[in-house]
Amino acid sequence: MIYTTSTMKMAVMGDPIDHSLSPFMHGSLIEKHGLDALYIPVRVAPDETEHFAEAARHLGFCGFNATMPHKIRLLDIVDELDEKASLYQAVNTVRIRDGKLTGSNTDVDGLMAALDRQEIRTEGARVMIIGAGGVAGALIRGFAGRGVSSLSVLNRTLSAAEKAIEGIPAACALEMTRENLSVTASRSDLIINCTPLGMSGVREDFQDFSFLDDTGAFVVDLIYNPWQTALLRSAEERGLGTMNGLPMLIYQGILSFRLFTDLPVDLHEEFAFLYPLCQERLRQ
Ligand code: NAP
Repeated sequence: MIYTTSTMKMAVMGDPIDHSLSPFMHGSLIEKHGLDALYIPVRVAPDETEHFAEAARHLGFCGFNATMPHKIRLLDIVDELDEKASLYQAVNTVRIRDGKLTGSNTDVDGLMAALDRQEIRTEGARVMIIGAGGVAGALIRGFAGRGVSSLSVLNRTLSAAEKAIEGIPAACALEMTRENLSVTASRSDLIINCTPLGMSGVREDFQDFSFLDDTGAFVVDLIYNPWQTALLRSAEERGLGTMNGLPMLIYQGILSFRLFTDLPVDLHEEFAFLYPLCQERLRQ
């Protein structure tokens, strides 16, 4: 590929960023659609969010994705927030047009599309979220808008869970103790791990999985590396339905690609194209 000044420029910024699947995913879409475009990973330290955003503006990027730890900081840096970013209070996608940065969020719709694909109903569901960080905060607001019957947020640091549910009537915050995990799981239809526990390169994992003994919930882990975390393996051993983080990642990526390129790509067609490619890539 020979790049020129008119090549469409996109990136994913984060720290760490080496293992991001986004360059592979977007690169595959660029190739499939025959675009004159590039998508690069950039390691951006936590205190350099603004420098990167300014560079992207002045170098003529058409957009960039953001991952840990920049999603919250970007709320104050972009020129405007679209409806999704203001609702979910996190930015994972920035669209740039005529030097103007618009913050958006495709993580929540990405997970909802992944749940819809598995025919998991969220309306009226009792949802248990483990973790209260950036992605959990956005998902909590996303579920609140989907008419769930209850929303329980369990976190190592109780104050963070309390902050994450502020202003959400159907939600409760709990400390992530063994007992709270068990009691809440037994009353839940959907359990979502939004912590890095069990992720490759992270030493810690859940202490045990006995909290899954007395539940019929569908279990989601946002992690996709390893392909099956100990949480998902334990859930499967107990006969529970499970999903890892790859479907969410792919759907959010396609939604971002639409925002960057303005191509009206079909969500399900592109998912069917990307899923086997990403699965293969993760196995390498
Ligand atoms: P974050 O903002 O750093 O939040 C991390 C959360 O995990 C916090 O609630 C933190 O609790 C908790 N935590 C961290 N270490 C813990 C430990 N040892 N024991 C118990 N709790 C612990 O991260 P994030 O951006 O929300 O991302 C969370 C996870 O989701 C990551 O694994 C990320 O890769 C994954 N993710 C996946 C997708 C996808 O598309 N599949 C998208 C986004 C994120 P404290 O409040 O106590 O620190």
